[in-house]
Amino acid sequence: MIHSFEDARRGFDVDADVVVVGSGAGGAVAAANLSRAGLRTVVIEAGPRLSPEDMTDEAPRFMARYFWEGGLRTIGGTTHIPTLQARCLGGSTVVNSAIMLELPAWVRRAWSDETGLTLFTAPALDAAYARVFARTRVAPTPMTVLGRRNLVVRDALTAAGMKSGPLPRAVVDCEGCAECFTGCASGRKQSLDRSYIVDAVEDGAEVFTCAHRPSCCARACCTPPFCCSEAACSPAARWEARSFRTSAAGWLESWTRSSSRGSARRRDGEP
Ligand SMILES: Cc1cc2nc3c(=O)[nH]c(=O)nc-3n(C[C@H](O)[C@H](O)[C@H](O)COP(=O)(O)OP(=O)(O)OC[C@H]3O[C@@H](n4cnc5c(N)ncnc54)[C@H](O)[C@@H]3O)c2cc1C
Repeated sequence: MIHSFEDARRGFDVDADVVVVGSGAGGAVAAANLSRAGLRTVVIEAGPRLSPEDMTDEAPRFMARYFWEGGLRTIGGTTHIPTLQARCLGGSTVVNSAIMLELPAWVRRAWSDETGLTLFTAPALDAAYARVFARTRVAPTPMTVLGRRNLVVRDALTAAGMKSGPLPRAVVDCEGCAECFTGCASGRKQSLDRSYIVDAVEDGAEVFTCAHRPSCCARACCTPPFCCSEAACSPAARWEARSFRTSAAGWLESWTRSSSRGSARRRDGEP
C-alpha cells in the first residue's frame, strides 16, 4: 500500500524486516527485490506521490515543490557542485531523461581492477541489466519524434562515416514533448513509481510518502551546511519504522530503527 501525507501527518508505527529509505532508482529496486524475497518491507520517502496533474510544465514551480532545496542543492567539497535531486515517490527517475545505458566494458574492467570486485565484469551484471531494461521497457526513442538538432547531428555523423542512433530510454512510445524534467504527465516514462514501486507494493511493501528520515541527510544525501532544513522537512507527527536492516536511499546498512526524531541505532553485536 502507498500511504499519503495524511498518514504521515497522523503518525505511524510499523514493524518490518527491512526499512528502505528513499524510493528512487536505488531504493525502489531494493524494495521490490526485498519484498519479492518475502521480507516485510517498509519504504520511507520524504516526498509525495505525484499525479499527472502535479506534472505542470511550469519548471520553476515544479522544482520549488518537488526538488530538494527547490533545485538549489549544492554538494560541498573542494568546490561547490550544483546537484539536482527530486523529492517525490520514484525519486529522480520521475524527472530524469530516462536514458538507459550500460556501463562500457572498459569502465567495468577499470572498476573491477581498482576495487577487486569481480561483479563489475561478471555475467551476473549483464543479467541484472537485462532484467532492469526489460522491466522498465527500454527501447530506442522513435525516429519520428527526434527533433531538428538530433537530425542535424545524425546527418553530420553519417557524413563523417560514423555510426549513430537514437538513445535507448525507459519510455514507451515517447511523444517527444521534451518535458521529462517536470515528470511525464502522459505516463509513458517508466519511472520507478510506475514500475519497481508498483512491484514492491504488489508483493506487500508498505510505502510511506511525505515521511522524511532526518538523520540520512547528515550522513550522505547532502553535506551540511547545505543540508536541507529538518524543520522544513520533518512531518509534525511522530512516526517510527523498526527493522533489522535499513537501505538508505540505495545503500544497505544495519540499523534497528528509522524515526522522524532520527534515532537510528545499530543493534548490539550485529554487523
Ligand atoms: C534532471 C535529471 C536528469 C537525469 N537524467 C538521467 C538519464 O537520462 N539517465 C540516467 O541514467 N540518469 C539520469 N539522471 C540521474 C538518475 O536519475 C539518478 O542517478 C538516479 O535516480 C539516482 O538514484 P538514487 O536512488 O540514488 O536517488 P534518487 O532517484 O534521487 O532517489 C532518492 C530518493 O530518496 C529520497 N530521500 C532522500 N533522503 C531521504 C530521507 N532522509 N528520508 C526519506 N527519503 C529520502 C528522495 O526524496 C528521493 O525520492 C538524471 C538526474 C536528474 C536530476
